[in-house]
Amino acid sequence: MPVLTRLIPSPIVVDIRPGALDDLATVLADQRISSSGKLAVAISGGSGARLRERISPALPDADWFEVGGGTLDNAIKLAEAMKRGHYDAVVGLGGGKIIDCAKFAAARVGLPLVAVATNLSHDGLCSPVATLDNDAGRGSYGVPNPIAVVIDLDVIRAAPVRFVRSGIGDALSNISAVADWELANREKGESIDGLAAAMARQAGEAVLRHPGGVGDDSFLQVLAEGLVLTGISMSVAGDSRPASGACHEINHAFDLLFPKRAASHGEQCGMGAAFAMHLRGAREESAYMAAVLRRHGLPVLPEDIGFTPEEFVQVVEFAPSTRPGRYTILEHLDLSTDQIRDAYADYAKAIGS
Ligand SMILES: [Zn+2]
Repeated sequence: MPVLTRLIPSPIVVDIRPGALDDLATVLADQRISSSGKLAVAISGGSGARLRERISPALPDADWFEVGGGTLDNAIKLAEAMKRGHYDAVVGLGGGKIIDCAKFAAARVGLPLVAVATNLSHDGLCSPVATLDNDAGRGSYGVPNPIAVVIDLDVIRAAPVRFVRSGIGDALSNISAVADWELANREKGESIDGLAAAMARQAGEAVLRHPGGVGDDSFLQVLAEGLVLTGISMSVAGDSRPASGACHEINHAFDLLFPKRAASHGEQCGMGAAFAMHLRGAREESAYMAAVLRRHGLPVLPEDIGFTPEEFVQVVEFAPSTRPGRYTILEHLDLSTDQIRDAYADYAKAIGS
């Protein structure tokens, strides 16, 4: 009897709850991860010190590596430092930059990665992609998915709330990204993976509909699970399509045109998604998404993050060129500058100020 279903590359442990960090050593001692206890732990030099103090007694055979930042050079240096150690696995303990560096370094030395996320700023904590700054700006590098993901909600709640907000914007943007994927399927015959689309959309919808706020464990649980499932949806699809459409093109355009003034990934993606939903004629969904973004303290208008409407028009016009080959509502409508200006005015009016 042949295996008629497909296997999904996914972590063998997903532990998301308050206090999860207290059981990290037990998770790592799983014989599929590290039965010997020889671990390389990547951590930030600054904010990681307290975590190291707390966790190191439980991991006596681990070596600790301070990661300089989120660049390709940092990740290569980390791999160099780790390669002589004969470790069972790499543990990335920190925010997005640390985990992305650890992901890349682990792939380079051929070891599995355990992601221990200390904030929820984006959906990369369990994705097959490492985003690192390189000589040309910023690059996305394909890497294996983490072998385990641990998220302690007590740690998440102690991190600055802007990180949770960023994760909300990134999760909500899935709804617009999947709509773009469906559009590309209808208009261009691009194949769509129904399972990946379902996982990404459900993650976005769950965060959108949850009545709780950034300080509630029940909300943080749904958000963290949503971001993990979104990462796995990208593994299922084989690229970032389920979680990246016009919303992310707009985000990239902000980063590239205004590198010094850009806001967080999720702030820009969330606003980009609300605008993209409006552009595709889903006015009610757009207004609802904007209301939810506002409720959580996220921006919905460029002014909210210090940009003029005219600068936003420039961003939207530039956005398609940030991701050649990706067909979204922006490529579909192919608006002129004046049409973008009109569409923006209509959006601002529709969501109310
Ligand atoms: Zn994103």
